[in-house]
Amino acid sequence: MKIWVEIDEERLAGNFAALQRVVAGGSGETASETALLAVVKANAYGHGIGACAPVLARAGAEWLGVTDAEEGAAVRAALAAAGIARARQPRILVMSGMMGLASEAELVVAEGLTAVVWDEGHLQLLAAAARRVGAAERVPVHLEIDTGMARQGVACGAGLERVLAGFAARPELRLDGVFTHFASTEVAHAAQTHEQQRRFEGAMAQVRAARAGTPAWVHVGNSSYIDNGAEPGAVAWVRGLAAEMRARSMVRAGLGLYGYLLPIEGASGDDALVRLQVRPVMAWKTRVIGLREVEAGATVGYNGTFVAERGMRLALLPVGYADGMRRELSGSNARAGGWVMVRGQRAVIVGRVSMNLTVVDVSAIGGVAVGDEVVLLGDGVTAEEHALLAGTIAYEIVCGVRVG
Ligand SMILES: *Cc1c(COP(=O)(O)O)cnc(C)c1O
Repeated sequence: MKIWVEIDEERLAGNFAALQRVVAGGSGETASETALLAVVKANAYGHGIGACAPVLARAGAEWLGVTDAEEGAAVRAALAAAGIARARQPRILVMSGMMGLASEAELVVAEGLTAVVWDEGHLQLLAAAARRVGAAERVPVHLEIDTGMARQGVACGAGLERVLAGFAARPELRLDGVFTHFASTEVAHAAQTHEQQRRFEGAMAQVRAARAGTPAWVHVGNSSYIDNGAEPGAVAWVRGLAAEMRARSMVRAGLGLYGYLLPIEGASGDDALVRLQVRPVMAWKTRVIGLREVEAGATVGYNGTFVAERGMRLALLPVGYADGMRRELSGSNARAGGWVMVRGQRAVIVGRVSMNLTVVDVSAIGGVAVGDEVVLLGDGVTAEEHALLAGTIAYEIVCGVRVG
């Protein structure tokens, strides 16, 4: 293997526990406590569901969140392969919308997944699939309410009224959960979050009045929602809302599980910031495949954007932008680029990162040899640092890592 990922299982379980502690909100184990849904969508944010889903299940996750039904089936298989029997597996929420295929709805029913729905078409598809598969029980679904992202979910008001009536007409389905997603949780005192909360409260009142069934779960939020100390009552708010419906509350988290968090924007010294203690889970690695000495004046890589100012020792790495090594990490004489870790020391990238190759300066690192392990992401170099150089967020960096 020329490039690979190592997952620190202890850190993953530790991060889950750190998030869970804030969310649980109470010391005793009671049914009213808030659960933490562990988001493993997009192949566990690039970390690999095969490695991560079993760890999270063993750490006590009652729910996992996946992108689509196929990924849900893959998570079921990964859990079974890890020796976790079906009856002891977490529930799985299929978080992205349905594509409208009968086969997809059948997979949801057959694998015991919980689909996210918000319109009549979704209800029709799932009810038909339940009949065809011959589901023994009513198929549980979670209804998403759009409170201000205009992405997924049904709008509050008349639209919600219609969907709720759709449940009443379909004995094949059970309204198991109601939820929404907030757009600005990493902003301190965000007016948008407060507005979304008010809309969600209104939607909950509609759900209660409609008698479309009593949901067992009410959930919101993401890692920043938990981490944002400027909103210390955020988790208590959803707990209260769920209690009014005799439902359990839940908060969803992805990025924090993998050891990253967004900075909270606009937080002041007065905000009792929670600032969770989480640690990066992924180490992304490769090996040195070549070494060369160059003299002053040598140009490195495409367009000669780096010119050696003195004699240098360069190491060649078999990784490039096709593998997720961002081209913005390129280093020229005018602009320092990114770095990798070789023998525990920084080796800066010189010249342009190309499709499958990157050159780093190992002049100051003694004893480097072909075959030496190189840390692309891990101790000494974080996804946040890559994100800063690439003008993006840590989410995109970890999701972009490809191995093999
Ligand atoms: C991805 C996602 C999350 C997790 O968000 P993080 O910021 O990674 O914690 C939560 N809820 C929904 C609906 C999502 O799509």
